[in-house]
Order: sequence, then C-alpha cells, then structure tokens
Amino acid sequence: MQYNRCGKSGLLLPQISLGLWHNFGSVDSFEIAESIAKTAFDRGITHFDLANNYGPVPGSAETNFGQILKNNFQGNLRDQIVISTKAGYTMWEGPYGDWGSRKYLLSSLDQSLKRMNVDYVDIFYSHRFDPETPLEETMMALDFAVRSGKALYAGISNYNPEQTREATEILKRLGTPCLIHQAKYSMLVRAPEEGLLNVLEERGVGCIAFSPLAQGLLTDKYLKGIPENSRAHNPNGHLQEAEVSEERIQKIIRLNEIAKERNQSLAQMALAWLLKDHRITSVLIGASSVGQLNNNIDSLNSLFFTTDELEAIERVLDY
Ligand code: NDP
Repeated sequence: MQYNRCGKSGLLLPQISLGLWHNFGSVDSFEIAESIAKTAFDRGITHFDLANNYGPVPGSAETNFGQILKNNFQGNLRDQIVISTKAGYTMWEGPYGDWGSRKYLLSSLDQSLKRMNVDYVDIFYSHRFDPETPLEETMMALDFAVRSGKALYAGISNYNPEQTREATEILKRLGTPCLIHQAKYSMLVRAPEEGLLNVLEERGVGCIAFSPLAQGLLTDKYLKGIPENSRAHNPNGHLQEAEVSEERIQKIIRLNEIAKERNQSLAQMALAWLLKDHRITSVLIGASSVGQLNNNIDSLNSLFFTTDELEAIERVLDY
C-alpha cells in the first residue's frame, strides 16, 4: 500500500480506503464483515469510512464496526487507523435528525462515538450541503467538533464547487482547515472534473472518490445480466436494476476488453484510472467479500496507462 498526502495536510491516507455503506449492517453477516475489515487492515488499508445512517438499520454499521474494533483493534492499534463518520442525511425523526444544523451535527457525532465506542473519530464530515441552514453554522459545528477533541479533522461531502469554495473559506477563517472532500467519481460519473477537482487543488484540500466502481457496474459482475448475489438484486442495495441498462452494459463489455489487454480485471482498471490523477488522494471502495477486496487492492500492481489506452477508454465512454 502507498499512502498519499491528503491535500496540504499532515495526514496520509491509503490509496484505497474501505467504505461501510453496504455489507456491514445488522442485515449482513457479521463474520464476513469482520473478515473484510481485518483483511483490509492487514493489506495496508488504514482508513475506514462510515456515516451515522449506514446499515440497514441506520446506525448498525457503526455498531458493528465498534464490535470489530473491540475484537481486533485493541490498544495502540487505534492509533494506526483513521475512522471517518458523517452526518447530513435523515437519521432520526423530528426536526433535529437531518441536514446541517449545529444541533443535528453535534448530537449525531456524540451518538456515533457511542455506537463505535471510541473517544474520537479522525474525520467528521458534513454529509451534504444544507440550503436552509447558514453555511457558517454548519462549518462552526465542524470546527467545534474538532476543537472539542471529538474529531481530529473536518471534511465535506457532496458540495458543489461554489459551495466548496465558500465552505473551505469559512473553515480556514475559523482555524480548522477543510481536510478532505468526499465526491462521487468514477469512469461513469465525471462531474468532479467540471470544476470541483480544481477548487480542491487550489485550496489544498484532498479528494476521496466514492463509489469508484459505480456500485459494482464497473466490474465483470453484470456482463451477463443481474446475478442474485449482487447489489442491483439486493432489496437493501442502492443500485437500481434500471441503472444496469443495456447501453451501459455495452460500454462495460468494451471496457472489460481493454482491461483484459492490460492483464487486469475491469474493477482494477477502474480504480487505477482514478488514481492516475494526482488530485485523488484515495479511492473509497465497498466490497461484499474478501475476494473482491483482494482483487481490488491488486489494482495497485498496475497503475500506469499508455496514452493509447486512455484514448481508447475515452472513446468507449463517449460512445
Ligand atoms: P463501489 O463503487 O466500490 O461498489 C462496491 C460494490 O461493488 C461492492 O459492494 C460489490 O457489490 C461490488 N464489487 C466490488 N468489488 C468488486 C469486484 N472486484 N468484482 C465484482 N464486484 C465488486 O463503492 P460503494 O458504492 O460501495 O461506495 C464505497 C463507499 O463510499 C461507501 O461504503 C461509503 O463509505 C462511501 N459513500 C459515500 C457517499 C457519500 O454521500 N459521501 C455515498 C455513497 C458511498 P455486490 O454486492 O454486487 O457484490
């Protein structure tokens, strides 16, 4: 594993981080979840990404991760890992369990710490921009989380370039620089190239790309339809069957051919393709098995692309 500096901060993050959005909830096998987390750490993945609402049920991924920590990461091992959590999407009923108020963010952080049974998280994120709450208030809540020692760094997620510019400015003024932006980015979702990555570089903020495999589409999984053991088939999965469209599959078949010529799986090529950009600190993957995790980490064996390969990939994506 290689570790990249996160923006202009002192924190190094592994090129591949592990996300617990799916596969770590109370509906999932704890044994498989635990073996994925253990294998990840053994292979150098030091960064585990959570949010208050990950499950299902919401909160259960944090509870399970707390148990995994208790079983496997006692003592000084806490100092060898980076734990992230977030608040911003619906978590509990009533007016204080959603969006970006100070009331929501700080009470949610306290709940997350309890569920994971840790004294602090390394990164606390505002999970989405709240158009109704003054941005100053949301950023002051992140600043307070850091000053109170409940988080070491502050991050934002799903903010557009303009919102990012403003948020990073406020955080800088408050004295808690924005460490990282978590953005949806993959071969199939190119929005961050339209301004966000430039803003982040200019501001010295790291970028972690979530759903880098487009929730599994950028693998060989859907080449022959929707298998039973897939996120698109799973009623708790966030990938809709309609997203596995014929047009997409045609592209994926052609990308898979290019990956084969590189002696890589499509998943490996999709991750390497993101990591070629120096502005990407880490790619934030999910995995439903240890086999998938290992396959994905092996992408690091072949990160280089020729110009011909890059052009061939662009031709497919423009198709
Ligand atoms: P990916 O795009 O990496 O999709 C992961 C899924 O793809 C796996 O669960 C598995 O699904 C399938 N897969 C992975 N590797 C392989 C492989 N080698 N071969 C075949 N199939 C494979 O990421 P996610 O969408 O899971 O997102 C990753 C993380 O990003 C989340 O856990 C979360 O931490 C973060 N995130 C943040 C968001 C935000 O708003 N900030 C929103 C969404 C995610 P299957 O079940 O089909 O096997």
